[in-house]
Amino acid sequence: MAENVAKIRENIAQAAQSAGRRAEDILLCSVCKTRTSDAVRESAALPVDLFGENHMQELVEHFDCGAYLSKPVHFIGHLQTNKVKKVVGRASVIESADSLKLLLEISREAAKQGITQDILFEINIGGEESKTGASKDYLFPLIEESLNLACVRPLGLMTIPPAGAPADETRRYFSMVRELAAKANDAYRGSASFDILSMGMSGSYIEGIQEGATIVRIGTAIYGPRVYPQKN
Ligand SMILES: *Cc1c(COP(=O)(O)O)cnc(C)c1O
Repeated sequence: MAENVAKIRENIAQAAQSAGRRAEDILLCSVCKTRTSDAVRESAALPVDLFGENHMQELVEHFDCGAYLSKPVHFIGHLQTNKVKKVVGRASVIESADSLKLLLEISREAAKQGITQDILFEINIGGEESKTGASKDYLFPLIEESLNLACVRPLGLMTIPPAGAPADETRRYFSMVRELAAKANDAYRGSASFDILSMGMSGSYIEGIQEGATIVRIGTAIYGPRVYPQKN
């Protein structure tokens, strides 16, 4: 795992340099779905900047036993409203905000806890039926609505491009998301900022960095292939 992280850091530095960017401006998010708390704790001692969790139960388990070693954790999976309560207050950023219903629940829970919850809007940039995330046409209406909520603070955009797309196509998707964020920055200057771009996974983080990602979310390239329990 240490070697994997060192190699990824090297690749990030190289990609940043060739894109004329600073490596420090790119955060490495370690995506630990399906991993044990021991594996998470071991990886937390390595130069990763933060963690990414897809499931509320795993977030609670790892958070409550201190496996992240005080590094921040972002929620990056589809979030059901009935699970918001346990995610708000543990996740420093919820990257997967994609509906008004969800934002209302997040704001309500954050108010109850006396905090403001940082969020990213997840964009379904490929317009895939099977995917979560807001369509790009729904982004601006959703931002408008979110600005009326007292306890959520939008900071940027997150995306998962269509799986298996060739690198140049993936790059085009990332570039569309970057342009959306720039438009949102112009439109809402003074009331919200959209400077965080969470784009790129094990197979696409170089393209993400080329198109301005400030967070890359990497699982397999750190921990190896995921083993899912057999469903009978
Ligand atoms: C699983 C996952 C990742 C990491 O994927 P890898 O291909 O294992 O790097 C990144 N982002 C999200 C939202 C994920 O669910």
